[in-house]
Amino acid sequence: MKFANIIVDISHEKLDRPFGYIIPKELEDKISIGTQIVIPFGKGNREITGYVIEITDKPSFDINKMKYIIRANEGAATVEKQLIELAWWIKKEYSCTMNQALKTVIPVKKKIKNIQKKTITLNISEEEAEEKILKYKKSNAKAKVRLLQELKDIKHMSKELVVDKLNISPSTLKALESTGDILIEIENSYRNPVNFNNLERYDIILNEQQKAVADSIKKTMDYKKSEKANVHLIYGITGSGKTEVYMDIIDKTIHDGKQAIVLIPEIALTYQTVKRFTRRFKDKVSIINSKLSAGEKYDQFERAKRGEISIIIGPRSALFTPFENLGLIVIDEEHEGAYKSENVPKYHAREVAAKLCNITGATLVLGSATPSLESYFNAQTGKYKLHRLTSREKGKLAQVSVVDMRKELKNDNKSMFSMELKQLINDRLEKKQQTMLFINRRGYAGFVSCRECGEAVKCPHCDVTLKAHNNGKMVCHYCGYEEPIPRLCPKCGSKYIAGFGIGTQKVETMIKKEFPQAKVLRMDFDTTSRKGGHEEILSAFANHQADILVGTQMIVKGHDFPDVTLVGILAADMSLYASDYTAAEKTFQLLTQAAGRAGRGKEKGQVVIQTYSPDNYSIESAAKQDYEEFYQEELAYRQLMQYPPVAAMTEILIQSEDEELLDRFTDALTKYINKLKEAKFKQLMIIGPAKPPVAKINDVYRRMIYLKSLDKEKLIRMSDYIQELINTSQKVKGITLQFNVRE
Ligand code: ADP
Ligand code: ZN
Ligand code: ZN
Repeated sequence: MKFANIIVDISHEKLDRPFGYIIPKELEDKISIGTQIVIPFGKGNREITGYVIEITDKPSFDINKMKYIIRANEGAATVEKQLIELAWWIKKEYSCTMNQALKTVIPVKKKIKNIQKKTITLNISEEEAEEKILKYKKSNAKAKVRLLQELKDIKHMSKELVVDKLNISPSTLKALESTGDILIEIENSYRNPVNFNNLERYDIILNEQQKAVADSIKKTMDYKKSEKANVHLIYGITGSGKTEVYMDIIDKTIHDGKQAIVLIPEIALTYQTVKRFTRRFKDKVSIINSKLSAGEKYDQFERAKRGEISIIIGPRSALFTPFENLGLIVIDEEHEGAYKSENVPKYHAREVAAKLCNITGATLVLGSATPSLESYFNAQTGKYKLHRLTSREKGKLAQVSVVDMRKELKNDNKSMFSMELKQLINDRLEKKQQTMLFINRRGYAGFVSCRECGEAVKCPHCDVTLKAHNNGKMVCHYCGYEEPIPRLCPKCGSKYIAGFGIGTQKVETMIKKEFPQAKVLRMDFDTTSRKGGHEEILSAFANHQADILVGTQMIVKGHDFPDVTLVGILAADMSLYASDYTAAEKTFQLLTQAAGRAGRGKEKGQVVIQTYSPDNYSIESAAKQDYEEFYQEELAYRQLMQYPPVAAMTEILIQSEDEELLDRFTDALTKYINKLKEAKFKQLMIIGPAKPPVAKINDVYRRMIYLKSLDKEKLIRMSDYIQELINTSQKVKGITLQFNVRE
């Protein structure tokens, strides 16, 4: 007799363990590890689904009390064994239920049928066709004549063409098939979201530095499973050829009969990346992302399983592509926030990728011009191998100047553009070169506030101020709530109420006012929310339909516009005011990446950073494009404050719609954690409970407790205890808890 251990598809902490069931004899060949099954559950024997994670010969308890699996769910996708192993790790590392972890590693849950391609072929000779045509003409069978005339010349046609272009009905096709005039052939095929035809060949010879980096990484690739993952960090300035190095390593991976996963941080970068990879690797490349249909997604995973493709390009969920022989994972722009999941489990792609490399023997290659503090720290301490690319093949690093906006005011320049930036914009307009202006806020202005009483208008559902837009409305950037900007202050009745600060819309308006001859495009959340919005704006700018592109961080990432010779960063300090400990790092990364957009072609680029805090180290180092200097300063700060990467940190987010209940629960939980600390984890640091910077979102109240420790294992164990408390406590109705491991 065979038994299965099953994780049920209910994400409840109390059901977070495997349940033992008997596999009926007749189902034995239909059920394996990873199969989704249907079982009777609980007292009422309700039918629910679950995944088989283990099969054994030994019952897990009294065999007379065990129930039988009802059936295998044939419509569901199965989970690969190695992904189940990964799910166990995710569960433990990120303190979530196994069901949540399994859901994470199965991005496509349903099987979806292949598409069927039908081809119509002429089944008779040309002469016979001529005769038939004459015959059908006589009997006035116009559709038959149309089709045979077409097929006489080209022999084969797809059924779609026959139906769409020639307007032939299925019954006509059947009739012609039964008289033997044509053949209808059916072929099963996979959907393929990538279709580039006739791309030019791709021939690049790596320069010496690139070759040295690629070779030294290739030497370490032995595809052997190991406790210690083989991880490399390529720290290379923007445009230094990291992508060329990735492709060289992928080439070896494929030669060795292995496959590669390539992660990119932004869906908007898919097009240019896939095009580049397709040039080199032809139809071995595919993509996976949220813009694909369910059928397209399912088919890419099937193609991966069958070895039809060797490279998949996508966001963090592409990690779960079921390749048989994974040999390499590349994470481009590894510092990007997009690699961290916003939903439970809040996993980081970098860490999950490293674990997947342990399990499969694959190699992990991270690349960035501004590595995350974590990765650079790991490279310094020897956990990762560090490689440098220090020069650009095309173009030169831009010249950067920092403008102190306080001085502009003193010199009577009230414009949002400094004198220097204005003069440079004019110069570029004359030379017909392009400019990018970056501002880290969408909308027209910042918050709406009253100059007499100081009232700032808040969202009724969230603990944030509403932001002014140029359609006369104020919008909540968290929940989307909007209302008209009032003419009078709702508190004191003053008419001096208006939006303060600047956003992308205002920059666009002011550019049009100060430079009426300039053609301007704007790229932000509001202009790209339509499908294809990104590509439209980017290609319009690439085709010189505009002189100036105004945008949020969307315009900063990875895009390659050779004719941009000026980048203006309008309020460099904005992200410095964020309350997270990573604010300086984010600022440095944004500024450096933005600066990297200038001067990618023949002309030298120039960057103007406008700021009210020119002495801040993140702005100073970004202006010098000196990563090392920034890293040293930032690391000293993290050391002093015991923040990651020096210490491990877990944030516990506690949420409820009932604020009173929330505070009571949070206090009790804090007491419990403090008691545990005294008993078992003396070195652990506990901060809070505290209100997070945004203490209410969408009518749900939020509180935080922060745990820090120099020993990560201790943090994970503490999280386990807290989970257990939740599992056994009755008092948690109406409360949700989320763990966020910062890394
Ligand atoms: P990164 O990924 O580091 O930003 P890329 O790989 O995109 O850099 O390279 C920037 C540009 O320089 C690309 O157009 C690329 O084709 C070109 N390039 C890089 N290395 C070479 C080389 N060895 N020979 C010719 N062109 C190169
Ligand atoms: Zn007022
Ligand atoms: Zn809101």
